[in-house]
Amino acid sequence: MDKDIERKGILAESSQYVKGVGPARQVLLSRMGVENVEDLILHFPRKYYDRRNLSKIVEIKPGVDSGFAGTVLAISLRRLGSRRSLLTVATGDESGVINLVFFNQPYLEKQFKQGDKIIASGMARIYRGQKQLVAPEYEILTGELGDELMHTGRVVPVYPLTAGISQRMMRRIVKAALDKAGSEIPENLPAKMLESGGMMPRVLALRQIHYPDSWESLEEAGRRLKFEEIFYLHLLVMLRKRKLAEGKPRPEIHPPHDLVKRFIGSLPFKMTSAQKKVLGEIRADVESKKGLSRLLQGDVGSGKTIVGLISMLMAVGGGLQSAMMVPTEILAQQHFRKMKQYFSDLPVKVELLIGSLGASEKKRIHAGIASGEIDLVVGTQALIQEGIDFRQLGLAVIDEQHRFGVRQRARLGQGELIPHFLVMTATPIPRSLAQTVYGDLDLSVIDELPFGRRRVRTEIVGEREAEMVYDRVKKGFAAGKQAFFLYPLVEESEKSDLKAAVDEFERLQKEHFREFPLGLLHGRMSFEEKSRAIDMFSSGEILGLVTTTVIEVGVDIPNASMLLINHPERFGLAQLHQLRGRVGRGGDEGECYLLTGKPDDAKIAKRLEYFSTTSDGFKVAEMDLKLRGPGEVWGLRQSGYTVFRLINPLSDRDIVEKSWKECRDLLERDPKLDMPENMVVSDYFWKYYKPRMELADIG
Ligand code: ADP
Ligand code: MG
Repeated sequence: MDKDIERKGILAESSQYVKGVGPARQVLLSRMGVENVEDLILHFPRKYYDRRNLSKIVEIKPGVDSGFAGTVLAISLRRLGSRRSLLTVATGDESGVINLVFFNQPYLEKQFKQGDKIIASGMARIYRGQKQLVAPEYEILTGELGDELMHTGRVVPVYPLTAGISQRMMRRIVKAALDKAGSEIPENLPAKMLESGGMMPRVLALRQIHYPDSWESLEEAGRRLKFEEIFYLHLLVMLRKRKLAEGKPRPEIHPPHDLVKRFIGSLPFKMTSAQKKVLGEIRADVESKKGLSRLLQGDVGSGKTIVGLISMLMAVGGGLQSAMMVPTEILAQQHFRKMKQYFSDLPVKVELLIGSLGASEKKRIHAGIASGEIDLVVGTQALIQEGIDFRQLGLAVIDEQHRFGVRQRARLGQGELIPHFLVMTATPIPRSLAQTVYGDLDLSVIDELPFGRRRVRTEIVGEREAEMVYDRVKKGFAAGKQAFFLYPLVEESEKSDLKAAVDEFERLQKEHFREFPLGLLHGRMSFEEKSRAIDMFSSGEILGLVTTTVIEVGVDIPNASMLLINHPERFGLAQLHQLRGRVGRGGDEGECYLLTGKPDDAKIAKRLEYFSTTSDGFKVAEMDLKLRGPGEVWGLRQSGYTVFRLINPLSDRDIVEKSWKECRDLLERDPKLDMPENMVVSDYFWKYYKPRMELADIG
């Protein structure tokens, strides 16, 4: 049989047939996404126990995690009631005796026989004068000590589990999968690269990551597997970038146009030099052959919207259409209103397209988009629904892009030409990570806030001192200021003791702010209700807005200068920073109060303390990434981006850099990856990354 087919065969074989699995357990494994032998092999331990050092029983001390090798002396099972039982296995070595104790697992009795050689480890204690290990990890030895140990007497893997699969079971199953696959696990890096990088062969690394011979070989295996993980991501982004550059052409745009100049001239402020620098980069891109595919990062309030608008006008001025896609209807409407105002004297036809429009209104806008009558459209995902057909989309801006997935962006690129596109975000991503996740995009940063913008004063206050903060808010109200009261939940639930906006709205209005009108805004209200609440708040009809994270993205109400965040410990730091960005946008200095219910929790206090003393959003985001990892901060999992399995691009920067370089060199030497020695790479890539390559049309 052809060797390759045989290989694929084993790894692709259902995990059901691995020794110790069977149909019932397969159902449980499927819950963890484990379907075949390969999935089991790639089911990495989440940590390890060092169970190598075996003690003499006499040396075992209470309160210490210890292991020993001994012989089973006696077994006794006591029933303590209908469901309760106590199994005691007395074991001994030449130095003494210790009891292994198992509660409510009577079936274990059959596993032990007098005279069995055994290794056990766990936390020791003294009970009625006797040494015990309660529910220890153990292994009954059949061969020599050191042979085939799985559960103790070595560095032991600890796996992520699912209900119904125990740690011991999982270890046995993974071991069986490794044995079954044997040496048939294919290498996926060229021999030269392994050699020059001093890396382990893949098959060895996969065995060592599960059953390491030592901490050193575990470390080495980890580095090898991290490298391969990041290497294929780098290859993916480099090939995507190449496809974008060589693929469908981009629309021709030749700014500067009169329109852009007139618009900039009409603004009530001067562009910051950072904004100008970025606009220069954007203009160079749209005029170049490779086109504009750029990620724009800039702190909250750094003025990204204007940069997006001007980019759109570059296309509109050249007779093409532009679109801006944003994550919420509220934000779309806010941008739309601003644009109408900005463009009132310019020959630019702007429309709003969101899901809550009436059917006839939608139809009219769809028609205007198709005929080209509409120059510029701002909207939500409604922009990428079936039936939207631009006459000629020249440039697309995607705001707060981390809220969207790759697939959604890809849909904007389905016409004959790929539009130029600019994606904008206020949750910055460190360069080493950006290179990996967005390596196919060029990167621009607005690293300067508009002149005169001051930092938001941030104070941590215990919930018990809320009264004091309310008094300050009342004074603020009396002086014409406005406030957001922010809560993590919309409605109270039995499951949590978190305060919720709906209930708190009534309480605040009745008990604390009788003489000041408050309003309510949350995600479960209809678009009309939301829009009304925002209008009333903007116009000053209500002074306080009791709300949730619906205001997180982009809401711009300059008169709001006070923000009270309840249960701040529930939010990530980057999110808190977004929220804080809602205030202090107008003339008054912003004030942010973090009303924590856990003022005594040291870890929370430290986090909030960092936040309250750091106003630079990039630093805040970096700290958040450190604390919670990129998956959480960027919602990577939900949005279809990469979730890192082993590598942490922040702490493994050296591996990231090495991989980037190796990958670039490889593509330079062998652009098509068709040299025989590189076939391992192209085979693996096309087998595992093809679907993600197909999303490459835009971003
Ligand atoms: P973000 O980068 O968070 O999206 P916005 O684009 O919403 O920020 O800008 C925040 C506010 O700053 C807006 O009210 C905008 O009109 C204003 N702004 C933008 N650029 C400048 C500038 N160069 N000078 C003064 N104000 C500016
Ligand atoms: Mg914005």
